[in-house]
Amino acid sequence: MPLPFTGKRVLVTGGAGFLGSHLCEQLLSRGNEVLCIDNFYSSTRRNVEHLLPHPRFELMRHDVTFPLFVEVDEIFNLACPASPVHYQHDPVQTTKTSVHGAINMLGLAKRVRAKILQASTSEVYGDPLIHPQVESYWGNVNPIGLRSCYDEGKRCAETLFFDYHRQHKLRIKVIRIFNTYGPRMHPDDGRVVSNFIVQALRGGDLTLYGSGEQTRSFCYVSDLITGMLGIMDTPDTFTGPVNLGNPTEFTMRQLAELVVELTGSASRIVHHPLPSDDPKQRRPDISLVRETIGWEPTVALREGLQHTIAYFDTMLAGALPSA
Ligand code: NAD
Ligand code: UDP
Repeated sequence: MPLPFTGKRVLVTGGAGFLGSHLCEQLLSRGNEVLCIDNFYSSTRRNVEHLLPHPRFELMRHDVTFPLFVEVDEIFNLACPASPVHYQHDPVQTTKTSVHGAINMLGLAKRVRAKILQASTSEVYGDPLIHPQVESYWGNVNPIGLRSCYDEGKRCAETLFFDYHRQHKLRIKVIRIFNTYGPRMHPDDGRVVSNFIVQALRGGDLTLYGSGEQTRSFCYVSDLITGMLGIMDTPDTFTGPVNLGNPTEFTMRQLAELVVELTGSASRIVHHPLPSDDPKQRRPDISLVRETIGWEPTVALREGLQHTIAYFDTMLAGALPSA
């Protein structure tokens, strides 16, 4: 006879991805039962292979653009490619994943009365005209550009979350994640931190897009997951949207130089054309999350990069699976 289970049953969509795999680990370590679903569009099962033997972990191949019928208490909706290279590869599928995926997961939450969190993004602010970005800012988004499938898909998902909340009294949390990095990013992911580190470790050129003066604010994955879990546990009256990210801002040139320094690489930094609609600056105002759960990022870029470099170094040496 199975033992009675007293923890929570938690669904993580996109659970085999970079953030999802860290989230699944943390949820298991808190005693929950975790159902991880993924269609492996921008990840592989290797990210969660070490969790497969865990008695409270289950992995299911499923595409969130199709309905799902399971019994759960909480849903973390992370399914969506996050790298511009991946989300622009099949832009129609990207919009479907955000919009149909949100409808399906909200429908599931409504049926089983589960609490549901949406992994939204700083991209809802587009190329922001106010700096740093506060949650009350409505953004500056191109609706027909190459990034729109992601930006507008995520904006529509936010709309759906708030309409289900108002219309069906669903318990929702919407977090706007700013650039996050760390171990288990895919080496060919295409995002700047993994690109620079892998290029430096291989001794190749670092591909700096545009002048390199554009800025981002990088959050280490462990900080982000702590914040995400903290927001899920807030009282039902708190819905967000709430920014989650590290407010220390760097230019891409500074990032490239830091990666070269920390890897001790002889790589050169070379300029490539700036992709269209690339935001010029990005930094979260984190006053709301600070006031709500007292969350602060604790890992500085230099330290987070050291952990991430060590991870990719081991992977490239062949000691870790690379895909
Ligand atoms: P990722 O690409 O590593 O993970 C996304 C996961 O979703 C992958 O495992 C992918 O296979 C899966 N997926 C994609 N389409 C799917 C579908 N239709 N059905 C089921 N699974 C699907 O990216 P990540 O960095 O882990 O991002 C996770 C979430 O956080 C995404 O929703 C992303 O938009 C959001 N986010 C991330 C960042 C960041 O900097 N990492 C910033 C803002 C928002
Ligand atoms: N970038 C770069 N070189 C790369 C990849 C990205 O200079 O090899 C730049 C990109 O143009 C952007 C920033 O780094 O200005 C962050 O890009 P990323 O794709 O990581 O995320 P974004 O915040 O643009 O979604």
